[in-house]
Amino acid sequence: MKISNVLVCALALGLGACGAGDNDGATGPDGISAEDIAAHVAVLASDEFEGRGPSSPGEEKTVAYLAAQYKAMGLQPGNGDSYFQDVPLVDITADPDTKLVFTDAGGNQISFDYASEMVVWTTRVVERSAVENSEVVFVGYGIVAPEYDWNDYEGLDVAGKTVIILVNDPGFATGDEDLFTGRAMTYYGRWTYKFEEAARQGAAAALVVHQTAPAAYGWDTVRNSWTGPQFSLEAENGNMDRIAIEGWITEQSARILFEHTGVDFDTAAAAAMSRDFEPRHLGRTASVAVDNVIRHSSSRNVVAVLPGSEVPDEYFIYMAHWDHLGLDPSIEGDGIYNGALDNASGTAALLELAQAFASLEKSPRRSMIFMSVTAEEQGLLGSAHYAANPLFPLHKTVAGLNMDGLNIIGPTAEITVTGYGMSELDAVLQKAAEARGRRIDPDPKPEYGSYYRSDHFELAKMGVPMIYPNSGIDHLEKGVAYGQAMSDKYRAERYHMPTDEFDETWDLSGAVADVLLYYDVGLAVANSDQWPNWYVTSAFRNIRIASLRAAKRGQ
Ligand SMILES: [Zn+2]
Repeated sequence: MKISNVLVCALALGLGACGAGDNDGATGPDGISAEDIAAHVAVLASDEFEGRGPSSPGEEKTVAYLAAQYKAMGLQPGNGDSYFQDVPLVDITADPDTKLVFTDAGGNQISFDYASEMVVWTTRVVERSAVENSEVVFVGYGIVAPEYDWNDYEGLDVAGKTVIILVNDPGFATGDEDLFTGRAMTYYGRWTYKFEEAARQGAAAALVVHQTAPAAYGWDTVRNSWTGPQFSLEAENGNMDRIAIEGWITEQSARILFEHTGVDFDTAAAAAMSRDFEPRHLGRTASVAVDNVIRHSSSRNVVAVLPGSEVPDEYFIYMAHWDHLGLDPSIEGDGIYNGALDNASGTAALLELAQAFASLEKSPRRSMIFMSVTAEEQGLLGSAHYAANPLFPLHKTVAGLNMDGLNIIGPTAEITVTGYGMSELDAVLQKAAEARGRRIDPDPKPEYGSYYRSDHFELAKMGVPMIYPNSGIDHLEKGVAYGQAMSDKYRAERYHMPTDEFDETWDLSGAVADVLLYYDVGLAVANSDQWPNWYVTSAFRNIRIASLRAAKRGQ
């Protein structure tokens, strides 16, 4: 059904938007429809699919459904003769009966309890990981960012030591628009970065100080997320290149620790906001051990490809995670996390896009990859595995677009871009939106760092320019207040709950309008000979340049 053009042109009346077909993205493909999206979501989010937990019977059904769809469309398997890429997972459960102990030169100790005052874990696949009497150093934000002329580890050797790190970045802390990217969180502000950098520096343990505003979530979230089984990818080296002990401590714990060392926490934290910051030895050692229960499992990414008609060895990638939280038998009544919006809807959009491109008479110049990744909910693991083991070279992957949740409230004037201002893909989407009489809005909450919290990010981190558009709230008839209320309602009543179920009253006309824009972006990039780049303020630009150079040298 061609709801697309009719609807969008109707919305765009008076804006001169819907001129017929000069194929610069202003005309839509056939076949992207609300009915089709609803039909896919109804299947994927049905109770029969058991919440699509990785390595569960729900996974079997989900990946079989996706592969069958791709096959029926005539798309080629992305991994040799298979649509599947195996993703080895491990889940590690730390014994909660552990304490984090700091000792001074005189042997005086203070200790912090697991869950209430700190959480610690290891991603190393070992039964026991520990640090003993490891010297403690406060390294401020723990950031090495040459493009911002910032290095908290300068002249410091932290081999074998325990580093204490502030969350977020100095731009957020000071609100200074000239420091990093001001209030908008850079990747250097994410906890994942803190642990990666501490590992590169050779630290034995890294503890991030939780503060609610800069973290963008409360201690409850930290405690709930990092206690119980922790999934990670299982690299061949058993993740031994990761840091031995990772963890968070509450702000209160940090204050107590600093007070014991005679250092005022606020003064130390303020010093960390400046380039002149000097790391501070706290005159204490840290000791902590985690005992683990380890369980190995495996899951699958599903990957299909439409070879390009002219430059088949260059790629545009569409991605959406297929997994959700599975089922919880301990819940009385409905314990199935159907994940209809999150992310059966994005998965349905991916299938619609695949169908639209597969039906073209002539394929785009460049190849199109359609990838459903697994274990997003466990920490972007399927996409991280793909980024580490790409089926198509990342330096030949021109750009990509990720979908996590569609608009279910009806047509909106705008589409938002999470991580707006990072790459030239913004301009591609802008052009497509204007052609369809819509506008794009920046991420309304860039300080939350949402760009670093869905699958595209794992590819961005490797340098591939990735755009992550999200639903608008400015409802065409009912306005912003309505859209905001619907969004808040979803957060409060359905997000990551068994109530995220498919509902036939969803108005998917806005989703269709958004998916048409996603189509336009992919088509424009795939038909172009341009290589969209990161803007100079992006932490990923240097990574991309290095990756393209390395590939060139290797040729
Ligand atoms: Zn999601």
